[in-house]
Amino acid sequence: MKKVCVIGWPIAHSRSPIIHNYWLKHYGLEGLYERREVKPEELPEFLTNLKAHGYVGCNVTIPHKIEALKYVDHTDEVVRHMGSLNTIWYAGDKRHATSSDGDGFYLNLEASVPNLNLKNKRAIVLGAGGSAKAIIERLLRAGMAEIAVQNRTPAKIAELNSIFGKQIKMLHPDHFVSESKTASLLVNCTSQGMKGQPELEIDLSALPTDAVVADLVYVPLETRLLRAAKARGLPCAGGLGMLLHQGTIGFEKWFGVKPVVTQELYNLVASDIPP
Ligand code: NAP
Repeated sequence: MKKVCVIGWPIAHSRSPIIHNYWLKHYGLEGLYERREVKPEELPEFLTNLKAHGYVGCNVTIPHKIEALKYVDHTDEVVRHMGSLNTIWYAGDKRHATSSDGDGFYLNLEASVPNLNLKNKRAIVLGAGGSAKAIIERLLRAGMAEIAVQNRTPAKIAELNSIFGKQIKMLHPDHFVSESKTASLLVNCTSQGMKGQPELEIDLSALPTDAVVADLVYVPLETRLLRAAKARGLPCAGGLGMLLHQGTIGFEKWFGVKPVVTQELYNLVASDIPP
């Protein structure tokens, strides 16, 4: 039986086992996906001997996404751009790694917004942390012309500039409304709006009527940002859909089946999320 785990510290909160074990059952595959608490000092031994621990691969979450790079044999271009990984699988005896957040985000965007067309358009990204980096990498790959980034700590935008080049512009909050007039996409990559965190205060009134609004936060399922966007009739993409779609990438590597994100799976995971 093939076994996969998600490693992190702490790890009790991870909903990944619900998702992958649903697909294993759905496709009649013999396998198991489990949580493994791995402390930082245990990481080198655990990843080096992943197979001996009984796993054909794993997901990697906080705080190991960067450190884990030292214990894989092959990384793809996404990982090299991002400087972090979240998915490991074996090809023979070699450990390969990717980061699925960007592709998961984009797959969810395509599934949520009919006739999505972002080529040569502008996006506004709120936040400049790990997820913002993944989303920016993917949006540039999709052919977007410019990404305006607004962040509480502006210095972090300079780092994005040095990685991705001049298509990344710094956006001052005072200019948000005027800049949003020509944005085709707004993405919240901050933790604002998440349960227990400060609310995201943002004025959507100047966004074009066909601009897409996406939020990575999925606790609560419908954030204030998404509610405001829906009230304006704007197409939306939520954080839970992204989580489910990014899971499809690892599942296919480990089990050889590209799983489908169904409404039934969405409802199952949603039922585990506090209102
Ligand atoms: P991160 O690397 O820690 O970055 C956090 C970002 O949020 C930074 O830009 C930070 O600004 C900003 N921020 C935090 N608190 C803030 C506040 N009070 N006011 C203004 N800005 C604030 O985290 P991450 O990995 O990018 O994750 C960001 C969010 O995305 C989290 O809520 C996470 O759960 C969610 N996420 C969802 C998925 C999914 O599958 N749906 C995947 C990945 C992440 P500074 O730079 O100034 O600190």
